[in-house]
Amino acid sequence: MRCPFCGSDNTSVIDSREIENGYVIRRRRICEQCKRRFTTYEKFEIFVIKRDGREELFDKRKIIIGLKNAFKKSTFPSDKINQIADRIENDLKTEGLTRVSSSEIGKRILNYLKEIDEVAYVRFASVYFDFRNIEEFKKVFHEFTKKTRKKEKKV
Ligand SMILES: [Zn+2]
Repeated sequence: MRCPFCGSDNTSVIDSREIENGYVIRRRRICEQCKRRFTTYEKFEIFVIKRDGREELFDKRKIIIGLKNAFKKSTFPSDKINQIADRIENDLKTEGLTRVSSSEIGKRILNYLKEIDEVAYVRFASVYFDFRNIEEFKKVFHEFTKKTRKKEKKV
């Protein structure tokens, strides 16, 4: 790593620690040339491929904003919204994914909502698919009812 001050490539790590539950590593470095110190961060980069093909860095806050918009007229608790966003982020990191489509994220949100709250699930599904893609909505909804029936049989 080159020194950002003098451009020398003679730099050393003087301290290295895990932050954000071990998902980010922060290193303090010193330039052997000019003796100045600087910090670098090592972290996962997950790219989200959007419907129009553009890619952007994964940002958990966008999941939170999306869910909040979907539930603004209802009383879905915001701690549950944060929980879902955290779980999705952790899942992606654990699976080691570096690229994921926005529709895959949408499906994961739906899966978690399904576990937590059936009404919230249907509401989000209708906002998420925006009824422009009624066939996909039907498909997802059909899968959901199928799985629910299976569960009921087991009981
Ligand atoms: Zn330097």
